Amino acid sequence: MDVVTEQAEAFPDASTAGFAIVVDGLRKRYGSLVAVDGISFRVKDREIFGLLGPNGAGKTTTVEILEGLRDADDGRAIVAGIDVRKEPQKVKGLIGVQLQSSAFFDGLSLLELLDMFAALYGRRVDAMAILKKVDLAEKARSQVNKLSGGQKQRFSIATALVNEPRILFLDEPTTGLDPQARRNLWELADSIRAEGRTIVLTTHYMDEAETLCDRVAIMDHGKILAMEPPDALIQRLIDKGFKGDRVERSANLEDVFLDMTGHGLREA
Ligand code: ATP
Repeated sequence: MDVVTEQAEAFPDASTAGFAIVVDGLRKRYGSLVAVDGISFRVKDREIFGLLGPNGAGKTTTVEILEGLRDADDGRAIVAGIDVRKEPQKVKGLIGVQLQSSAFFDGLSLLELLDMFAALYGRRVDAMAILKKVDLAEKARSQVNKLSGGQKQRFSIATALVNEPRILFLDEPTTGLDPQARRNLWELADSIRAEGRTIVLTTHYMDEAETLCDRVAIMDHGKILAMEPPDALIQRLIDKGFKGDRVERSANLEDVFLDMTGHGLREA
């Protein structure tokens, strides 16, 4: 496959200004397996950047290096202006990482959990304002195990927002959600970006990447195969003469589903 990458033309110098993330020649091995094979990319400030790729492509390893959770063997990663390989703790204070809901303590309400997370960062927050932002104000006194799947995902994003992060990492945020809850989460991601934050997202849903991401990087076998806006990648494929077997219609089954059941959330 052709390697399609805009980085050589668009980012000719080594400057990190204007970028939330700068990655150069990043490499990680597990024994003889090369999980991340010398990748380079930049994420612009206020961008929603998607990391796509089949299982085992190296996405999680890459993201965990950027989050300061895993050390690389080689290369450079500058996250929110900090060299994450040199100062991983400093980076952790500037990013938000969406935790899986199973990681939350039972017995505490959503409000109490947010206060607890804020305290871990040495902050005091308006927990109710954060819950309002993620559309969970009515559940403020509930426990996480009483929430629906979509509500859990929104709450995990709320916990990632307590330290006002410059960059938010979302790991497959809509897996298992119904169409209304997925769209609701996309709107939340857009509103978080509108506050001036940058979002790095991994997903296996191509419609999600197409709707939400300004640019995507497609990874496989530890390498980046392509990195461009979704529309540009699709156009490039069409220009090569690709013809899919899809019949173009102005509605799909998801439209039918939403027409019958409405766009509103059902979970509250
Ligand atoms: P998925 O879509 O399934 O989450 P991924 O793109 O996130 O996949 P990684 O989890 O980064 O891929 O894994 C990349 C490769 O590294 C895989 O072959 C995986 O088996 C291997 N790997 C990941 N973590 C470890 C580890 N701790 N020890 C050994 N091998 C690992």
